Amino acid sequence: MSPKKIRRYRLNEEWREFTDLYVRRMPKTDLHVHLDGSLRLRTLWDLARAQGVRLGARDLRSLRKKVQVGENCRSLGDYLRAFPILLKVLQEEDALTRIAYELAEDAAAENVRYMEVRYSPLLHVQGGLRMSDSIDAVLQGLKAAEQKYPIRTGVILCGIRSMTPDRSLELAELAVAYRADGVVAFDLAGQEKDYPAKKHREAFYRVLNENQNVTVHAGEAFDVRSIHQAVHYCGAHRIGHGTRLLEDEGLMNYVIDHRIPLEVCLTSNVQTRVVRRMRDHPFRFYLDKGLRVTINTDSRLVSNTTVTREFVRAARAFHLNHYEFRHVLLNGFRAAFLPYAAKVRAVREALLEIDTILGERFPMDDLVILQDWRQLQGKPYAENRAGGKA
Ligand SMILES: [Zn+2]
Repeated sequence: MSPKKIRRYRLNEEWREFTDLYVRRMPKTDLHVHLDGSLRLRTLWDLARAQGVRLGARDLRSLRKKVQVGENCRSLGDYLRAFPILLKVLQEEDALTRIAYELAEDAAAENVRYMEVRYSPLLHVQGGLRMSDSIDAVLQGLKAAEQKYPIRTGVILCGIRSMTPDRSLELAELAVAYRADGVVAFDLAGQEKDYPAKKHREAFYRVLNENQNVTVHAGEAFDVRSIHQAVHYCGAHRIGHGTRLLEDEGLMNYVIDHRIPLEVCLTSNVQTRVVRRMRDHPFRFYLDKGLRVTINTDSRLVSNTTVTREFVRAARAFHLNHYEFRHVLLNGFRAAFLPYAAKVRAVREALLEIDTILGERFPMDDLVILQDWRQLQGKPYAENRAGGKA
């Protein structure tokens, strides 16, 4: 038995322990990361040169300015403007294989143990590539990285809201056809306003009928009705963002009761002005309500972030204590689109490792699960009221 650790901070000060170096060591997940927004800047530069594509940038610095939205972003529309530039060099199989491999390599380097990479094959056909070839190319890159690093991956295919429902249906067919090869879910991305998800419901029916998973970008920039559609028309098993879910209490309770996880992307939400500052994000409120919140990058390059950075920022903005931090880390594994047995194994392995690392700095003899901790503190999760909004 190791001697009992002395708590250096009070519970509400523990967030200070969660530094970049410390968090980097912990096993993590990334369930919401866009392939085309997460390549290395250097790779973007190399690919453009090799393919003779003009990106309108003299050097890496000016290229960074063009594709990393940061402070200059005013809306989701602004954020999405970086993508056509990135897509210019992503119309060939080799490029897709390379960026998929490098993304998994970068994630593994910061101890992401499970990652679901999403992208839309519809956006990679400008050079004559077939959609199925692009999927093969991405899977090939990810599988190669899995051979070399301790990371497991899956692919999520995204329909695009502003494209016709027929295109979504084509993608839905592919999400079904590639299920055995590593495609784990179907998603709908793009501008929410004016492009309701329910228009694409045939695609969702198709996917659900074949027992394939569904996640939907919803409640990011547009209001909570978008989440209602995602859950009740599209059968979403997870929600991308869900930032505005708190606007409908009844729906929020439903999402809590059915353990539908939220793929929260904090930095991205600040950049697209969905929230003004990180601490204005409802993350803490959701966590306290018992929502299954997960932390994700959205786009590593465009948002200039990593999973580690997102966790550190969350700990700081919402003053997470070690019970909460551990709970959110584990939520990522709990929410994975993995077969149940594999998921149980992944959660257990992560738990052992997380507790060993937390044990270096926090007293582990009283480490109980978050719900128990809240009970001990005399603040159990509020019980759902029936109904909410009529
Ligand atoms: Zn996204």
